[in-house]
Amino acid sequence: MDAPEPDWQALRTRARAAAATSYAPYSNVTVGAAALTSLGTIIEGANVENASYGLTLCAECALLGDLVRNGGGQLVAVAVVAGDGEPLTPCGRCRQLLFEHGGPQLLIDQGELRAPVRLSALLPDAFGPNDLGARSQT
Ligand SMILES: [Zn+2]
Repeated sequence: MDAPEPDWQALRTRARAAAATSYAPYSNVTVGAAALTSLGTIIEGANVENASYGLTLCAECALLGDLVRNGGGQLVAVAVVAGDGEPLTPCGRCRQLLFEHGGPQLLIDQGELRAPVRLSALLPDAFGPNDLGARSQT
């Protein structure tokens, strides 16, 4: 089955709406994420800050919770935006989290003026579930 074609403008709009629901009292940087899955569903997430700062959850973390909660599937395309609608690139931790559910072919939005980029370009030679199986001692 071919992956569904992403509607990037719709994903950006949903991501911006998700950003409006974020909890960001410390940085005041609201972030929203929206993704198309292989099942054709759209999932969303927003950042959730914490007074400890280090325990802050990025929007992509909430996005993956939404993915699992809504039946799973593989991520096909992801848009992450700040509250002003401008694109943000996933941080290092989130690149690894996204790899688990989207693999190297996952498309990451770069905004209206640039073509989407594959996750493999943002996280080359990624460690993933296959590496665990290949090195299991059992
Ligand atoms: Zn992150």
